[in-house]
Amino acid sequence: MDQLQTLVSWIKDSGNIVFFGGAGTSTESGIPDFRSAAGLYQTQHNSPYPPEVMLSRSFFMSCPDIFFDFYRSKMIHPEAKPNGAHLLLAELERQGKLKAVITQNIDGLHQLAGSRQVLELHGSIHRNHCMDCSRYYGLEQVLASTDRVPRCPECGGIMKPDVVLYEEELDHDVLVASVTAIAGADLLIIGGTSLTVQPAASLITYFRGRHTVLLNGDPTPYDHQADLILTDRIGAVMSRIQEQL
Ligand SMILES: [Zn+2]
Repeated sequence: MDQLQTLVSWIKDSGNIVFFGGAGTSTESGIPDFRSAAGLYQTQHNSPYPPEVMLSRSFFMSCPDIFFDFYRSKMIHPEAKPNGAHLLLAELERQGKLKAVITQNIDGLHQLAGSRQVLELHGSIHRNHCMDCSRYYGLEQVLASTDRVPRCPECGGIMKPDVVLYEEELDHDVLVASVTAIAGADLLIIGGTSLTVQPAASLITYFRGRHTVLLNGDPTPYDHQADLILTDRIGAVMSRIQEQL
């Protein structure tokens, strides 16, 4: 049996699949990893700031105009559509086999594909709150703002995306739910993440199930613990799996 067939059989046998994904899950939807995108940004705009600086809490507070220039041009991709990975995961959830998608992405593509149990470790571009009056705003209102820094129409406060910036804590409830999901899974599929960023690496140590599968283009520190490694593009792999289920 080849690797793909093995994964198909494990998916068929599993009643509690959890998917843990990173930036590589969305690259086939046209969303680049922001680190490579930021490199492009620095080249094109001669920005003196690396992305880790621009995407930090302190930078957001001191230079919101530059933050939103970067955020709007590189972090928001309203035209992006779900790819084969998002679609398969949503279908597996509909079938009752997949219990949670845990993602480091902020693009909302899993929900767009139909997934409901999505744990967004780094937040979402689709949720925004006024920093002064806490009113909620969707992505549309951020995009509709003609000001460089989007402001609350009610009070003039800055609309802050519910995206976890550097220097900010991850949401405790999301972390706990992620640990619970991973600990209860019998098949853990890890896709499109190098597993070098915390808490990704430590979260997956809670897995006690039968099989761990890695779908990633590059080697990860977790490779030696995986039961199966597929190095093709994740969207293409999952499209082929969907055809065989
Ligand atoms: Zn407000």
